[in-house]
Amino acid sequence: MASPPPVILWFFQDLRLDDQPAVAAAVASGRPVIAVFVLDRASPGHWAPGGAALWWLHGSLAALAADLAARGARLILRQGPIGRVLAQLAEETGATEIHGGRAVEPWLRQILADLGPALARRGVTLVAHETRLLFPPERLKTQTGGAFSVFTPFARAAFAAGIADHPTAPPAHINASAQDVPSEDLASWRLRPSRPDWAAEMAEIWTPGAAGAMARLERFLASGFSTYDRDRDIPGHASTSMLSPHLHWGEISPRRVWLAAGHAAPKGGKFLQSFLNEMLWREFSAYLLWHHPHLPEEPLRAEFAAMPWRDDAEAEAAWRRGETGIPIVDAGMRQLWRWGWMHNRVRMIAASLLTKHLMLPWRAGEAWFWDTLVDADLAANAASWQWVAGSGADAAPYFRIFNPVLQGRKFDPEGAYIRRFVPELAALPNEFIHAPWEAPHLVLAAAGVALGRTYPRPIVDLALGRARALDAFAALPRRAA
Ligand SMILES: Cc1cc2nc3c(=O)[nH]c(=O)nc-3n(C[C@H](O)[C@H](O)[C@H](O)COP(=O)(O)OP(=O)(O)OC[C@H]3O[C@@H](n4cnc5c(N)ncnc54)[C@H](O)[C@@H]3O)c2cc1C
Repeated sequence: MASPPPVILWFFQDLRLDDQPAVAAAVASGRPVIAVFVLDRASPGHWAPGGAALWWLHGSLAALAADLAARGARLILRQGPIGRVLAQLAEETGATEIHGGRAVEPWLRQILADLGPALARRGVTLVAHETRLLFPPERLKTQTGGAFSVFTPFARAAFAAGIADHPTAPPAHINASAQDVPSEDLASWRLRPSRPDWAAEMAEIWTPGAAGAMARLERFLASGFSTYDRDRDIPGHASTSMLSPHLHWGEISPRRVWLAAGHAAPKGGKFLQSFLNEMLWREFSAYLLWHHPHLPEEPLRAEFAAMPWRDDAEAEAAWRRGETGIPIVDAGMRQLWRWGWMHNRVRMIAASLLTKHLMLPWRAGEAWFWDTLVDADLAANAASWQWVAGSGADAAPYFRIFNPVLQGRKFDPEGAYIRRFVPELAALPNEFIHAPWEAPHLVLAAAGVALGRTYPRPIVDLALGRARALDAFAALPRRAA
């Protein structure tokens, strides 16, 4: 008897077997499964993953391949434009169905929109499941049936809709296709740096893959979580979940995280609400990208197109290197380089310095974060940068400019975070660690700090930078109501 045609199980940013609807559907089809990941560096309009993201991807693919192997299946690796590779693989293997995830990224949406009908003409069905979000982007609507542009009512609608408590367990066994489908070799993709190995510390902090994600979730729920609402803004405490790269790559389903948080706090509480709210910021970012496909490239508030952003390569490089002379910003930018991750509060402070005091374009910051974050996410990164810059739909008002010194004193009062990432300031007393230029000479000397030599003087006068930004903002064409 001829064996039934296989189904293709295509992975993208949903690199897990647990609570993964495409996996469940492929297995439920009862047909032999061919699992594939396609590395796409070439499709038009594609934001190809940056260096830190590729480092993560290597670990994540290795973990997924091991999880598949434990269930009797192999992960096929191919490179090229996703649409073309999938169509070719279907032809090569005689598959008549492809199960994968939906996308919010405009370039991938376009590929899937074109691919579906093209495959259908050849008798192949493409089924795109919601593998990455709690709420498909079309689901939540305003009372008049429109799209939300403000977070609070979006979150209210999400809480009202609720999350169904029926995650699917990972399959115990996968009926893998017996075909000998050629695969590329992960090592040959060279996703990890060789020399210099800038990822050494990242390897100590992170464990990419589904098991690493679950361990991170359990650790967070056992500590951190119950004080999350109080401590989530303190960068010197390990008080947030650090799940963002795992969620970005889909190594854990947002539903698992949401439900596990609820089960760990059966009586509810402010900490639970606060955490779920942040999970909804992730949803809202994806929702914004879905409804505004130009989000990564163009300001949502059209008047910001006239913003006279400065062009100052030297200041931009100092910001990237964490040498602005503003300690909390430098600590954040160095954490980013070393860990591929930065605490959310400091992301906001660093982004505010770039776009306001320095008046450099938010797209420059967006691009640097894209290359250096292990959680670099087209939706969350673009939405957050626009939020900080003031050009987003639901943005912090432009005139509300973070003072990085006051922010540092408030959220890192003992300077623990600064001391960790800017060791040349470690011996300064708390009083001066956020603004070393205010310290008397004797204090600096006693701490071994020589401004301009061991640590930079501030590259911008905070008061003047603030005034310049406010003037530029005031001169913008009037906002539409
Ligand atoms: C300028 C800037 C750029 C950013 N770029 C990214 C990015 O590329 N990728 C990314 O995942 N997050 C981004 N964020 C959002 C946020 O900083 C990170 O999601 C958060 O720091 C991750 O840490 P955590 O996992 O410990 O978060 P937790 O506080 O534990 O929150 C739980 C989860 O909720 C989601 N989340 C939390 N805050 C936000 C937020 N403000 N926006 C969207 N989702 C959120 C994340 O998936 C996170 O893992 C950015 C923020 C700023 C200000």
